[in-house]
Amino acid sequence: MNQPQEKALLELQTLREKYAEKLPGIVKQIESEFKSQFTQPEKSSLEEIYRRVHSLSGSGATFGYTTISKTSRQLEDTIGVLLQKNTLRITKKDQATISKLINKLTDALNENPVQNKNDNALFLELTQLRTPELPSSRTIILIDDELEFCKSLSLQLSSYGYSVKSVVSLDYLEEHLVKEKPLVIIMDIMFPEGNLAGVDAISQTRLSLEHIPPVIFISQRDDLQARLAATRAGGSAYFSKPIDVMRLIDMLDQLISDSTNAPYRVLIIEDDEQLAYYNARLLEGVGIQTKVITDPFKLLEASNHFQPELIIMDLYLPGCDGIELAEILRQQQGYVGTQIIFYSIETNINKHLDALRAGGDDFLVKPLKPHYFVTAIEARAKRSRIVSSFMISDSLTGLYNHGMLNEHLQREFKNAMRKNESLIYAAIDLDHFKNVNDTHGHGAGDMVLISFSRLMRNRFRFTDLIGRYGGEEFSIILPNTKIEKARELLDELRINFSKIEHSFNKKKFTVTCSIGIASTPPCKTIESLQEAADTALYKAKKAGRNCVK
Ligand code: GH3
Ligand code: MG
Ligand code: MG
Ligand code: MG
Repeated sequence: MNQPQEKALLELQTLREKYAEKLPGIVKQIESEFKSQFTQPEKSSLEEIYRRVHSLSGSGATFGYTTISKTSRQLEDTIGVLLQKNTLRITKKDQATISKLINKLTDALNENPVQNKNDNALFLELTQLRTPELPSSRTIILIDDELEFCKSLSLQLSSYGYSVKSVVSLDYLEEHLVKEKPLVIIMDIMFPEGNLAGVDAISQTRLSLEHIPPVIFISQRDDLQARLAATRAGGSAYFSKPIDVMRLIDMLDQLISDSTNAPYRVLIIEDDEQLAYYNARLLEGVGIQTKVITDPFKLLEASNHFQPELIIMDLYLPGCDGIELAEILRQQQGYVGTQIIFYSIETNINKHLDALRAGGDDFLVKPLKPHYFVTAIEARAKRSRIVSSFMISDSLTGLYNHGMLNEHLQREFKNAMRKNESLIYAAIDLDHFKNVNDTHGHGAGDMVLISFSRLMRNRFRFTDLIGRYGGEEFSIILPNTKIEKARELLDELRINFSKIEHSFNKKKFTVTCSIGIASTPPCKTIESLQEAADTALYKAKKAGRNCVK
């Protein structure tokens, strides 16, 4: 178990203990509130009690108090019937029913909760399925006996942000893997030891090391026998030499993205604070980033700030209900792609349908066992990320499109003003791009655009926002960055890009870019920031291109 998991598990235990302490008080309060209603019932007070027993039913089930949950559920139904009548009246018979249920509730306090030991074990099992510690660097190990080849491939991969450790022999393979903790192994097949020596070395290593990263085999050999051996040794991909570097980088990005992606962001709206934090800790245990709100009126502010990919929505909340909230969210343009998952004890199918009509994506009924809950939420968050990446990105490059980047700029600008931080906006334009199209064809031009986009994605931080403004024009927002630092970073980008050798139809060529940077302060408005960056870019073009101004 790693540290965050241990912490999550400990916190879960604390939440359970706290709940057990609080429970008698909750039941007492319900009891006294009921009694006060018997003589002169009031609609608003009864509605308040209704909400209270509803919430008890949900939290009771989550924390293992089965009888308490069931009994509160019966109470909830009983008041529900009373509330639906035109005139509010509690008959002697109702009183007797309610008193009996409350007695049952009080008796149930003596019962031990169904211990969630099993759930703990399942939770542990679930979290252990993931790679325990994420390697922090983007290290790749390249094993090939041709020194020159190693040098040239390393150089190319490193301009895409990978750090490559080259090794020219099969000796000490295990030691290298343990020391470098690479994200991927790129392994040659033919070595002086034999024509399949690279494959054999991987098979051997699998026997002694518990976990080895994905392996990409590369080779002069392109025969079926070599490919078959590579597959049997658990290779993830096979490239025959000469290697198509762009395809190799695609494959690396693909293999690595699963393990290094930013955590999913999930917002929980739930008025029962303990229940909310309990669910939050479960999700955090598997590396999901969470935010809890117990007051529905804070939803918009919290969402704008946290930008959740998924919202877990309670149905009954104080002051307004989850269905109304979902409708409000769906009216806001920025939340079209956010998944809204209702999570409530409500089993009435009509309510479920109402929730879906209001824009909910799914309805999960409480309580789910921890591992079901976590798996269900994680799968939906993943989907949400894929769906929104289609909507907000430019289809050729996968970067933010013009509209989306502007939306981010509005937010980041406000943020920077509020926190008194400096914000950088850079405008980038590829040089003589028309020539690239004219000389090598539109397909070559597209390839250059894709390769430039990839370079930017790999070079910048997760918090930096990169967009394609249109054509061969790009822009980057760097929050909380000083102008000197920005100049350094963007100059590095410019130099790296100019070094990339593009090849199309066997012709090789290079392309350069010009960059204009502006920052706030001194710019005081978004318009002046963008204008200043454009002016700087124009100057860079005037000064002979391939430079930063
Ligand atoms: P400068 O150095 O002054 O920026 O010269 P330039 O040729 O790059 O500038 P110009 O704006 O005159 O030409 C941009 C070219 O980019 C024209 C257009 O055909 C091409 N272009 C725009 N979008 C795409 C695209 O999606 N794919 C390809 N292949 N070319 C594109
Ligand atoms: Mg070799
Ligand atoms: Mg241009
Ligand atoms: Mg242009």
